[in-house]
Amino acid sequence: MCGIVGYIGKNDTKNILLKGLKKLEYRGYDSSGIAILDDKINICKTKGKIANLEEKTKQQRLIGSIGIGHTRWATHGEPNDINSHPHFSNDKTIAVVHNGIIENYLELKENLQKQGYNFISNTDTEVIAHLYHSYYNGDMVETLCKVLKEVKGSYALCIMCEQHKDKFVVARKDSPLIIGLGEDENFVASDIPAILENTKKYYFLNDMEIGLIKKDNVTIFDMEKNIIQKEIFNVDWDISLAEKNGYDYFMLKEIFEQPLCIKKCINAKILNDDIFFENFSITNEQIENINNIHIIACGSAWHAGMVGKHIIEKTCRICVNLDIASEFRYKNPILNKNDICIIISQSGETADTLAALRLVKEKGIKVISIVNVVGSTIARESDNVLYTLAGPEIAVATTKGYSTQLAMLYMLCLKFAYVRKNITTNVFKQYIKSLQNIESYINKVLMVEDNIKNIAEKYYNIENAFIIGRGLDYCISLEASLKLKEISYIHSEAYASGELKHGSIALIEEGTVVFAILTQDDILPKAISNLKEVKARGAKIVIIAKEGYKNLDELSEDIIFIPKIDEQFMASIAIIPMQLLSYYIAIKRGCDVDMPRNLAKSVTVE
Ligand code: GLU
Repeated sequence: MCGIVGYIGKNDTKNILLKGLKKLEYRGYDSSGIAILDDKINICKTKGKIANLEEKTKQQRLIGSIGIGHTRWATHGEPNDINSHPHFSNDKTIAVVHNGIIENYLELKENLQKQGYNFISNTDTEVIAHLYHSYYNGDMVETLCKVLKEVKGSYALCIMCEQHKDKFVVARKDSPLIIGLGEDENFVASDIPAILENTKKYYFLNDMEIGLIKKDNVTIFDMEKNIIQKEIFNVDWDISLAEKNGYDYFMLKEIFEQPLCIKKCINAKILNDDIFFENFSITNEQIENINNIHIIACGSAWHAGMVGKHIIEKTCRICVNLDIASEFRYKNPILNKNDICIIISQSGETADTLAALRLVKEKGIKVISIVNVVGSTIARESDNVLYTLAGPEIAVATTKGYSTQLAMLYMLCLKFAYVRKNITTNVFKQYIKSLQNIESYINKVLMVEDNIKNIAEKYYNIENAFIIGRGLDYCISLEASLKLKEISYIHSEAYASGELKHGSIALIEEGTVVFAILTQDDILPKAISNLKEVKARGAKIVIIAKEGYKNLDELSEDIIFIPKIDEQFMASIAIIPMQLLSYYIAIKRGCDVDMPRNLAKSVTVE
């Protein structure tokens, strides 16, 4: 959610900040602003898109070698010019940008008001500017330590002072912030893509760490002002991965990147017909003795987790509890010795998922995380991290992030099943082959893009849809339904086909569109019976079916056939047409596919 960029160095500060903020647009925001320090601090901020800010900056003098920028996703106070960040201290000598929520801001505000501070915005953030001013003693780091000891909540913070023309300070807690290291220039940002074209070397700040950023050096402190030695991370993401490269939208580009990303993800773990997880601290003996597995995630990652649950239970015969992170953390979960936990998050910063991870670790349960963003908080705090290697995912609606999570779950499932002797060596090897084929099968589906586009033209005008399936097909339906609603704003319900008649079938009337996923042989006759039930009530059915399934014509208006692969990997193939269909429907409806309304890419608040 929202974003921060900071810069110090010899280059065009304004341009670097604006470019960085544009790269963070995908995270979701409602207003933006920058502050640049010259002889004094100049702030330019506005409600709405960065393009508005860019226009506004043309009318102001914004020159200098230190700057901080912000995209705001309002939590306290409406999105307007005044509430936009940066926020000033009353004497305009201190400027602050903040992502997150200051939970005790009311109490702090009252105290500061008593001291004579005047608040001009409705934000929680403004307390930081005044509190910093009230403690300021000439030492930027020490002052920040004092402020942070008073503040409760979540924050990524960047602060600059008129008095210091050669430095600014940053800190974080439960909100992402990274530091990019350059030559005679340094950067900070909420996320790597914002500054990827400037540097590939990063420090990842931990919670309650403070960074003092100068042009030619960066020093990290703890809350007692002790210096912390940090490891430099090299991020080998290709810059082109964060560009549209001729595609109209990032989402379409990322849909088409899926075969390559899955290949990369799988090849990184497979060697000589076996699966290896580097630095894996869970021994074979522990795998043999796993009691329960807990999979915890949010949104699409939760849908991937549901596929994981399905295949692990089927193949490894281990009971898997699947939880939505925001529910898990408040339910006093039952966790036993010999349980393990799989945490899934594309960004590695999802607030609820991170809180769930911390809770599980407190109980002494080993955590494996499946994460895309290298060095993210969840990755760093897990006992074992499996990187999905999808590269930066910019579109808010995940595609390649989800697909690579599935691939990683398949590999974990197969490894566990093999170690626990649920499958023979031969079957294990066959599955590995089949995993390696996923890439080419997805490519085949992508080749029928035009067909899918035509189907989208027929249905883009609907306001409601059902997406149904049984077993694994139901897991796919959930993800398909989320794609459709988040980018096209069509109200869509995913349903386990057999469950419809327990209530929701009442909503089916003449012309209701039902998308049906059919990929599971053993339950095909049952799934077809369910389709007949909705057809009899007037539904128009569009089927995504595994090649070779017969007699579907009389049931459906349109069919998309997809190639056969082992049934447990079908989710990876069947989701592709639904991603494309959602995309083209959203385009026809004139939606901003990459940045759907009300949504943020990385959900860093509870
Ligand atoms: N809570 C702050 C506000 O409402 C910061 C929101 C953000 O993270 O952008 O202004």
